[in-house]
Amino acid sequence: NALRKCASAQKSVVIVSPRPHFLYTPLLASSSVGTITLRSACEPLRALVESAASKATSATFVRADAREIDVHNKKVYATTDSDGMGLELSYDKLVIAVGAQPNTFGIPGVQEHGLFLKEAEDSAKLHAKLLSNLEKAAALSHQGNKYATEIDRLLKVVVVGGGPTGVELCAELADFKNHDVVKRYGTDISDRIQIILVEAMPRILMPFDESLANVAKEHLVSKGVEVRTGCGVTYVEGQDVTMQPSTPRTATAEQKAEAASKAKSEEVGALVWVAGIGARPLVKKLAKQLGQTDMRGLKVDETLKVEGTNDVYAIGDCAL
Ligand SMILES: Cc1cc2nc3c(=O)[nH]c(=O)nc-3n(C[C@H](O)[C@H](O)[C@H](O)COP(=O)(O)OP(=O)(O)OC[C@H]3O[C@@H](n4cnc5c(N)ncnc54)[C@H](O)[C@@H]3O)c2cc1C
Repeated sequence: NALRKCASAQKSVVIVSPRPHFLYTPLLASSSVGTITLRSACEPLRALVESAASKATSATFVRADAREIDVHNKKVYATTDSDGMGLELSYDKLVIAVGAQPNTFGIPGVQEHGLFLKEAEDSAKLHAKLLSNLEKAAALSHQGNKYATEIDRLLKVVVVGGGPTGVELCAELADFKNHDVVKRYGTDISDRIQIILVEAMPRILMPFDESLANVAKEHLVSKGVEVRTGCGVTYVEGQDVTMQPSTPRTATAEQKAEAASKAKSEEVGALVWVAGIGARPLVKKLAKQLGQTDMRGLKVDETLKVEGTNDVYAIGDCAL
């Protein structure tokens, strides 16, 4: 849209992104269970830029990762994606639209052992994990009860985060279990799949009306999803996930100790972390540089101009 609008003004537009495609995120949950191919959720950026830019406008796509912004000298410092070589890009006006990244809240082991659902690669990784666990479980099932515990572990999927993404993913996983897995692996395997949705708050879909959340919960439960609310993940080590009753920020030391005493670990086949998003390093760095205090994103005014700057704008998930 910006490219089309800039066309008449004969602007020169440079689009910088390490991701070479536009990603239609609402399709990620379906692609992670193979309902649609990942290609249908991705549109190559270079072609998009070419088709959107008019002949009168110069529009260029630069595949690079912006690392630093110098608002005084109007420069963006970036590195090329593959080999990390430095680029210096000048601007008259800068639009920051770098989105956000998964937030693990510093919980040990999540970054290393969790799966995410933010980028196309995350969805591909989750799909591959689900299929490899299914294949392994199916192979082990030929040995009678010898590997029963391992089969149950492989077929246990824990989704952390009862927001729209977690709810949508659990519904897709349940459909996958009840249809595709039944057809391809039989009910001996599909009946053993456990899908657990973990939410720290007292109910799922907190930003939505409670009646809607209840309908969603009933629907998930009717499809065989276990919904655990008021439950938080505190530690992940390999395939071991530790959970305990969640406590409010205002909890006393005694309340926290009581919750910790109820912590339980379980072995899972896949842990999917969709518990929230946080600001990217570039955004935090600039916010700090500008003296902003809220590190969740860049504070903008009603024209989307970043507060404390003249020609820098922020839009989308990185703007507050
Ligand atoms: C699974 C899932 C389902 C969703 N479903 C919905 C839905 O149904 N409806 C809805 O409204 N929202 C949905 N969302 C949220 C929606 O995807 C985001 O709100 C939206 O993508 C934000 O757009 P954005 O342009 O701000 O950031 P993004 O879409 O994240 O795009 C940011 C771009 O910036 C690039 N970038 C990142 N860092 C840098 C850097 N340092 N330098 C240069 N480029 C960089 C990235 O590669 C990316 O191309 C969903 C999100 C997910 C994860």
